[in-house]
Amino acid sequence: MLNLASLCFPDPEKSCFYCCPPIRDPAADPLDTIAERKLLLRNNRRELQKNLAAPHEISGESCWGLGFLDDREKQAGCLLHPLRHQGRDLRHLTGYQFKCANALCREAQVFAVLSTCEQNFCLNLCRNMDSFHYSSRRNPLMRLLAWEKEIVQTAIHEFLTEEYPDQTSRENGPSPDPDSQSDRFTAEYDFLWQKLDFRLDAYPALYIAERKGLHFLRQHLDDYLDLRNGLINDLKKNQALPKHSDSSNLIPAHKLNIPLSLSRLLKFGADLWEMPAGCEEKLLQQIAERLKMI
Ligand code: SF4
Ligand code: SF4
Repeated sequence: MLNLASLCFPDPEKSCFYCCPPIRDPAADPLDTIAERKLLLRNNRRELQKNLAAPHEISGESCWGLGFLDDREKQAGCLLHPLRHQGRDLRHLTGYQFKCANALCREAQVFAVLSTCEQNFCLNLCRNMDSFHYSSRRNPLMRLLAWEKEIVQTAIHEFLTEEYPDQTSRENGPSPDPDSQSDRFTAEYDFLWQKLDFRLDAYPALYIAERKGLHFLRQHLDDYLDLRNGLINDLKKNQALPKHSDSSNLIPAHKLNIPLSLSRLLKFGADLWEMPAGCEEKLLQQIAERLKMI
């Protein structure tokens, strides 16, 4: 069963409101305008009854239904959600009920398939944050989750194995200070978002991490980047790829039977938005040959 609630509402001190409104500019980040947003969330809570009496369609800038959910102004979220109105969904009053009800970010989908232990580890990375920092896509947790399940799991397990080399030390050793543990994790793995780009690197980085570990990748970052850039050039030049194919045979890259991470590399790295149907085997082989070179 999907466990989404804990990423959106991890504890009583904070919540995530990044996906409101669902028609916002995706580059807009809560940290850019904290003071302004705080005022807006406070006013929306205070003026809810007035707004309900004269509802209007929202714009991509903000939603009058988004407000602080508690008097302490800790959690922020939808004031029109059915859970706050005895089951009545008032989100249609903003004009985007369908989008609101179906908004589910990729990070939440990745989080939902982690184990409880991995989820707890992840949430610890944002332990002392308020709702504004937690909702930001610049915090380490959201940046880590953008890398998809396999890399997230590899990073967590690699880190924990280093901290607790054997089962006995894990079970009987002193409990680590959660803040310093999270600082150590971030210091070790922030190369994923400081030096790499999950849209280009998730596929090749996982290929290497599965064989040699993420530590290897971090220690050989310059070599890896040369390899990845070479791979992108190969993909752009490859004779089997679109420009030499019958255009009626092309399909969108994300419809190929390949991982999402690879379709992102094709699109955002090699600018290959369409590919010949049935090219998967050749493509995977070509990429594997290049990646074996590190
Ligand atoms: S952006 Fe993602 S994590 Fe945040 S509230 Fe929306 S679905 Fe939940
Ligand atoms: S109606 Fe609720 S869910 Fe929809 S954008 Fe506004 S606050 Fe978010």
